[in-house]
Amino acid sequence: MAIDKSLVAFAQREVCPRCRKAAVACYCKALRPFTAPFGVGILQHPYEARNAIATARMTHLSIKNSKIFVDIDFSKNVRVNELLADQSLRHVILYPSRDAVDLSECFGEADVETGAEMGRETGGSRQLFVWVLDAKWQHVNQMLRSSPNLQAIPMVKFNPDRKSQFIIRKQPAAICLSTIESIHLVIDRFFAQKGLPNQEHHALLDAFQYLVQQQLEFARVVGFRRHRRRGHSEIVPGV
Ligand SMILES: [Zn+2]
Repeated sequence: MAIDKSLVAFAQREVCPRCRKAAVACYCKALRPFTAPFGVGILQHPYEARNAIATARMTHLSIKNSKIFVDIDFSKNVRVNELLADQSLRHVILYPSRDAVDLSECFGEADVETGAEMGRETGGSRQLFVWVLDAKWQHVNQMLRSSPNLQAIPMVKFNPDRKSQFIIRKQPAAICLSTIESIHLVIDRFFAQKGLPNQEHHALLDAFQYLVQQQLEFARVVGFRRHRRRGHSEIVPGV
């Protein structure tokens, strides 16, 4: 990917209304939206919403049956509570608490029936809905402490079989994946467990790789500012 340096200053002023990135950083052409085999709810901390290289919005734009909410205290969020009260849905939230069960246990028989009919209502059976918290660890805990409605959702965890490829943004531990990688892994495990030969969800990793390469290119062409915070560092385009 080559970026003309003379276009950067102009393009940084133009904002894409879809991905909300500066035109020079727009990744929309790398998206291949698909319907996931279950609903996805992304709960994003406001800090991440301001972060130039967060992956939550990219995940949301890639998954047709996903929703994204930005807040810290979700206890009074009307739309979140409407979803949680929906009796046609069976909710789980990705969070590695002591009581969390392995991800494989949340793919119930009802989901086997839906199989290739991803995202559609099934008569009488509740459809899986997976929530993910998009935040740094200390912010994740802040969100959960503030939101009893989220604490009440059954928690699921997984052992990642790969390291994060988010090389432009240091992860706090080897087991930590970005939001888009986490959702990809959940969908991947779902299809593997069901023996379904679906490939559409790999669009998530393709878009993610585009973002990583784009940011590396920014670092090379326009220089970078390196932000170092406790347990966290990142490279953002120089402005
Ligand atoms: Zn865009």
